Amino acid sequence: MFGHVRAICFDLDDTLWPCVPVIRAAEAHCYAWLQREAPRLTERYAPDDLRAHRIEFGRRQPQIAHDLSEVRLRSLAALLEDAGYPVALARGANDAFRDARNRVTPYPDVLDGLARLRGRYTLVSVTNGNAQIERTPLHASFDLSLTAAEVGAARPDPAMFHTASAHTGVPLEAFLHVGDDPERDVEAARRVGMSTVWVNRDDNSWPPHLRPADLEVHDLAGLVENLDQSPSV
Ligand SMILES: [Mg+2]
Repeated sequence: MFGHVRAICFDLDDTLWPCVPVIRAAEAHCYAWLQREAPRLTERYAPDDLRAHRIEFGRRQPQIAHDLSEVRLRSLAALLEDAGYPVALARGANDAFRDARNRVTPYPDVLDGLARLRGRYTLVSVTNGNAQIERTPLHASFDLSLTAAEVGAARPDPAMFHTASAHTGVPLEAFLHVGDDPERDVEAARRVGMSTVWVNRDDNSWPPHLRPADLEVHDLAGLVENLDQSPSV
């Protein structure tokens, strides 16, 4: 099925590691940092208030909405200034968030699955989020890693896929994209001519309005097994 594939592109959040627990921990870590460094701010705002402010801030600034760290930074800077603190404190709070954001725990099939594909294919990671792959347990798993912040647009915008192709020299038609999100992964990749794999770890139903992925797997072991049966051309 995938004999033509030379490069594989992986989404990160909820494809290679669970996202919700790490974001929760990072939010808590950032809030604790603010409680120490800017207590007047945390007396005024609960964690949910900070989140609501950030979401609204991103909505009003569509030109930076793809860069979640920048949105967090500017939203915090505005609130800190309001509370009479130097805006530079926002950077410390954002660093606290990012430190914890990188403490991801890959799903148990991931390190072995990627190791078995490494060398056979060019491996690329792409993310709309703000994990820094070089500071995660997957720091040595990819030939290239791209983020929405670096590329200037979040998926479903095709910019990350085009950049992956340009940097690796592999045409989009020889790429396989692997991700958990029907729209931002499968549909977005299909639109630029990539083959697609839906990683469905939680046994969700496929949205009926979209064309299914070329392959659905439960985890990377399922992907590797399928690729082992697809001799390359
Ligand atoms: Mg994802």
